[in-house]
Amino acid sequence: MHPAIPHLVDLQQLDQRIATLHAEFDGLPKRFREADAKLNGAKSAVASAKEAHTHAQTQRKKLELDVEQWKERAKKYRGQSSSVKTNEAYKALQQEIANAEREAAKLEDLVLEQMMAAEDVEHRVKHVEADLKEVESAVGAEKKQIEVQYNEKKKKLETATTQRAQIAAKVPEDLLELYSRISRRHPGAVMAEVREDQCRSCGMRVLPHVVQVLRTETNEEVFRCETCGCVLYTLEPIPHAAPAADAAAASADETTRSE
Ligand SMILES: [Zn+2]
Repeated sequence: MHPAIPHLVDLQQLDQRIATLHAEFDGLPKRFREADAKLNGAKSAVASAKEAHTHAQTQRKKLELDVEQWKERAKKYRGQSSSVKTNEAYKALQQEIANAEREAAKLEDLVLEQMMAAEDVEHRVKHVEADLKEVESAVGAEKKQIEVQYNEKKKKLETATTQRAQIAAKVPEDLLELYSRISRRHPGAVMAEVREDQCRSCGMRVLPHVVQVLRTETNEEVFRCETCGCVLYTLEPIPHAAPAADAAAASADETTRSE
């Protein structure tokens, strides 16, 4: 196997990780906006309920004034009835009085209806205000959480990007160029393990002599799958390019096992 292959495998793992982190990172502003939209929705529900409440109250006051006016009119006509001279004029006046009283009664019914409607609206105001309070605290918590995640992911991305640069520095330029070229076409799917003589990326058979060479530790040739174009590698044996700490742990394991 080409000595740079383990680095390329690590590079691919890191690239996949970076891509995942980027996707999660890019999703955060949307979540932030969604939280804001939820809050604005709850706020406008309160505003419109309050507006409906004000409207109902204004309507009621207007109706009450109308009732008063009709009652005043009836009172005025009644006062005039003693000074009426003719029978006809008296009858007409009685009719006016009856009419004014009917109008007043009709409007009083409407006032009652309006009062009941206002009560409903009042309940609605209380309900949406309670909702708003809940949404406010939920959105506040959500935003705080998004902020924490934002900082975490930013740090993870920075770490992964630094690690990537360190690993990439160990890979010869021509191989790195090949990796980038394949990666542009198939992000995260550049390297393919060969297992049981098959390319694990596309499932096609890999020629036995290629597998043989891949397994040879001194080999420095790079093979690509004839079907999918992935760079092939075998895990047996593979000197994994692990970080120092892991390597120490691994060798300790080895010692334990060999005893
Ligand atoms: Zn393949």
